[in-house]
Amino acid sequence: MAAYTESLGEPQGAAEPGEGILKTIMALRGLDISAPSDFDFILPADCPQWPAPHYGPDSPHLQAAKGSRQPKTKRRHAPSTPSTPAKTCKPRSTPAKKAKPEPTRGHLPIPKRDQPLRLLTLPGELRDMIYDLLAVREGPLFPQYRPVHMRGGRKVLRRYPQEPTLALVNKQLRHEVLSSLYASNVFVFRRSEEQLLQSFSMTDTVWMTRWHCDCTPALSGYLRNVELQLDARAREGPLTLTYTLKKMAEGRIDVMHDLADTGYCHCLEDEAVAEMRAQMVGLSDLVRVATVLSRRRKTKLMALAKQDDEEDGMFKMPTATCLYCRKKHLKHVSGG
Ligand SMILES: [Zn+2]
Repeated sequence: MAAYTESLGEPQGAAEPGEGILKTIMALRGLDISAPSDFDFILPADCPQWPAPHYGPDSPHLQAAKGSRQPKTKRRHAPSTPSTPAKTCKPRSTPAKKAKPEPTRGHLPIPKRDQPLRLLTLPGELRDMIYDLLAVREGPLFPQYRPVHMRGGRKVLRRYPQEPTLALVNKQLRHEVLSSLYASNVFVFRRSEEQLLQSFSMTDTVWMTRWHCDCTPALSGYLRNVELQLDARAREGPLTLTYTLKKMAEGRIDVMHDLADTGYCHCLEDEAVAEMRAQMVGLSDLVRVATVLSRRRKTKLMALAKQDDEEDGMFKMPTATCLYCRKKHLKHVSGG
């Protein structure tokens, strides 16, 4: 400020550029920069001391700042405050937490929540009842492959019957749900009457084998009731030849066919069953048994009969009657 006051009395040309502006502003406000400044603050009458002790050089924050600048070594040895005992390391094993008092709401305690109910914690009998609701049907199930159009024009073959979604959760649920699905239903392998599905005949050993392989082999071994239905033409009209495969309680597989009830020759069917039993000793998978049976039967048909393209590729027996049992032959029988 001293430099400014000295320069204001000198000519304008010798002054600094900023001083002229300052002088002009003060002149507009009626002030003179060279006049001594008057401090117009009047000390109150009731103030005994100015500045107050807590604002002067002895103010607490200045004292604290001075104390913080002291070296740590000095402060460490200065017993300004009574020394506190050193903290001891706590053991790692924390003691058991004290039980919190039960919160209250109004005049009644808040009831505790029930434990979550999980499916796998239920008794096995209850789980079986749930699986039966999901997987067991009153009527038979028909294994099929159906072409399904996906997005983008892609076409895939979908396997039926579809497994319950619950079987995709984990291995244990898959094992339990699919064992109920395969053991409690009757699976009928036959050629679909739908024109779209004619080329996916489930009496063909190729599609039967694929259906079997698309399932976990250990689970398809749970099958207990399987039927193999084949088309035939009798003299009276269309006829369905049914092979019934059942897994008995002792693990034995019982195979029957209903052609004996019709009065027609069933020598070929009996021979196919006998060859199948000789080949499948110790086998417990009904789908594999049905596949071998269908293959053995078709092999024998191809050796004896000829395929008739006019009858949807079915086989026509060479003679009207059987040379062994003297019973009538079916006009046409399907080879699967
Ligand atoms: Zn015969």
